[in-house]
Amino acid sequence: MKGIYPGSFDPIHNGHLDLIQRASKLFDHLTVAVYSEPEKNILFSAEERVKLIENSIDSNINNVDIVVFSGLAVEFAKNLKAEFILRGLRAGFDFELEFEMALMWKKLQPDIDVVCLMSSLEYQFVYSSRIKEVSRLGGNVTDLVPSNVVDALKVKFE
Ligand code: ADP
Repeated sequence: MKGIYPGSFDPIHNGHLDLIQRASKLFDHLTVAVYSEPEKNILFSAEERVKLIENSIDSNINNVDIVVFSGLAVEFAKNLKAEFILRGLRAGFDFELEFEMALMWKKLQPDIDVVCLMSSLEYQFVYSSRIKEVSRLGGNVTDLVPSNVVDALKVKFE
């Protein structure tokens, strides 16, 4: 079974990493798919985001790769011959958004299913947008992101 985990990952945080670690046991192979052209304000380039992910995934996990994609996630999944798209659910409004998106994806590609994993309790409140905002304002995010991301954020906001 093959899955893709699409997202902006701007930047990757511990909630994403927890999901990747758990999903690596669920799928034979998981591709972390970094969306190159999100509409929202992006801090890190696609190449920087890929590097940050590569350097933060546990070295014991060897069935995960990282690629950049553009266009529709379902099309990308189909091209990779993946059967599943992985998404994460935090408490609150994630469900509505993910449900709506999963229905659209199903309509576009009926052969591909969406698998959602619940966020672990300690990462329910972790959002990339909040990480960037807190860092920009000088707050400490060391418990929420891997150390290479702490360093990269420092450089951006110096
Ligand atoms: P968005 O889709 O809002 O840009 P990201 O690209 O950062 O969010 O995240 C990609 C996927 O990871 C989405 O399914 C999102 O719900 C999930 N995710 C983000 N943060 C967490 C978290 N703290 N715990 C679990 N899943 C998460």
